[in-house]
Amino acid sequence: MPERMLKFTDVAQQQPEKRPVPMRSVDFAEIYRDFGVPEAGTQSSRCSQCGVPFCSVHCPLNNNIPDWLKLTAEGRLEEAYEISSATNNFPEICGRICPQDRLCEGNCVIEKDFESVTIGAVERFITDHAFEQGWVKVKRPRHERAQSVAIIGAGPGGLAAAEQLRQLGYQVHVYDRHDRVGGLMIYGIPGFKLEKEIVLRRWKLLEEAGIVFHLGAAVGVDVSFADLRAQHDAVLIATGVYKPRDIGGPGAGLDGIVPALTYLTASNRIGLGDTVADFASGALDARGKRVVVIGGGDTAMDCVRTAVRQGAASVKCLYRRDKANMPGSLREVKNAEEEGVEFLWLAAPEAFLGDDVVRGVRAVRMHLGVPDATGRQSVEPMEGGHFTVGADLVIKALGFDPEPLPILWGQDGLEVSRWGTLKVDHRSFMTSIPAVFAAGDIVRGASLVVWAIRDGRDAAAAMHGYLQKQPQLAVAAE
Ligand code: FAD
Ligand code: SF4
Ligand code: SF4
Repeated sequence: MPERMLKFTDVAQQQPEKRPVPMRSVDFAEIYRDFGVPEAGTQSSRCSQCGVPFCSVHCPLNNNIPDWLKLTAEGRLEEAYEISSATNNFPEICGRICPQDRLCEGNCVIEKDFESVTIGAVERFITDHAFEQGWVKVKRPRHERAQSVAIIGAGPGGLAAAEQLRQLGYQVHVYDRHDRVGGLMIYGIPGFKLEKEIVLRRWKLLEEAGIVFHLGAAVGVDVSFADLRAQHDAVLIATGVYKPRDIGGPGAGLDGIVPALTYLTASNRIGLGDTVADFASGALDARGKRVVVIGGGDTAMDCVRTAVRQGAASVKCLYRRDKANMPGSLREVKNAEEEGVEFLWLAAPEAFLGDDVVRGVRAVRMHLGVPDATGRQSVEPMEGGHFTVGADLVIKALGFDPEPLPILWGQDGLEVSRWGTLKVDHRSFMTSIPAVFAAGDIVRGASLVVWAIRDGRDAAAAMHGYLQKQPQLAVAAE
């Protein structure tokens, strides 16, 4: 064991410093400062180099974490970058936005008596440093293949697959209805978690590798799915899940009640310098308003913290279960609390008040009941537990379901599960239509960036296996 490692008994855990609340809650820059070379090395040296590294086992990409920690501790940063980027297309993105407490760091063996190794922060540092040093190179293929693939969706799943397939020499065409590449990494996740430049620099590298992006191309509207199938040897569907779960009840149709992604997309577009009419009119701007966000997941946390930064008069989050049972990351709840968000736990909306525009939410206190078959406790309203919260903007963040692709694309043969996600063979990633594959949230349901990357990589490998068995035209160019 190198002397540099195993320092967890002497060296305390140190996460990258957070910018002070008064500074960070008025802008959309990331809240965590970067590690420098010394901090990254010292923190990496806390790793005990486990024989069976549970951190890697619980990383969806099975990243080779102990190796890149050791190399970082030894100052061999270019090698650390090589190892880190061998299993992950976007390590600097995962290092920023993975819920590490539930994945790698939550399973670090030293977590029990000492705090875990700061795996995410080191992973982010390694690739950010590699970009600064010019070590991140365009991944061009060694030889070209004549076969072409269409990838529908430029989110992390589609992009990871595109990069893998391009490296194998395929002619890769990515189609996306948006005007920028990145999917939810660009228009969903706010800049204070993931600055847009981090995503945009990846787009540039992918283009330089020869991937052709067809933007503003909504399949089913601007481009037909049948045409894509006819033009390409294989198709990958990586369209994510976007149909917002809605909320009913009296007053649910009032102005001022908006879906979370509409709100977040507008804010992200403003940050990117775009003009958004509904933001300019004030409809999607929280400035000076009493904001109520309904929901307890990561999207709800992104909404409350965006509203704080837009200068809301007050921001409240209404969630029907308690803090221990919320689906969102506790790290993000803590950040939101620090930034002044008030959480109303065990509270569910019943009606929205106002004449034309929402002016308040009538809610009822809930209590947790007996666990259901899945072990999750049911929630029941408390008798006489009604109360009203003033609101000028209500944001609905109740989760997402898949859009009905077979109907939208006129593809009856495209089989879906009972949740509407695309059915695939879990080994071949092929859907019920030959040569059509699928990956990411559209298969899994709303999940994580790191799982979309994993699926995109696995789908690319399966597509390569399939394409190699198909009759091939002559190789296009060496
Ligand atoms: P997406 O990222 O959704 O990309 C799909 C792409 O397909 C989009 O660009 C879309 O425009 C395009 N598309 C859809 N339909 C069509 C069509 N018909 N034609 C052409 N293009 C189409 N995950 C984390 O790991 N950490 C986080 O902190 C985190 N925060 C989140 C915050 C919010 C607000 C949201 C909504 C999600 C968050 N997630 C987070 C989840 C994560 O963003 C997703 O799991 C991940 O982006 C899924 O990747 P994907 O490639 O499957 O789909
Ligand atoms: Fe941890 Fe995510 Fe990195 Fe895996 S990809 S090591 S889970 S931060
Ligand atoms: Fe190092 Fe923790 Fe992973 Fe063990 S589990 S190899 S101590 S990071």
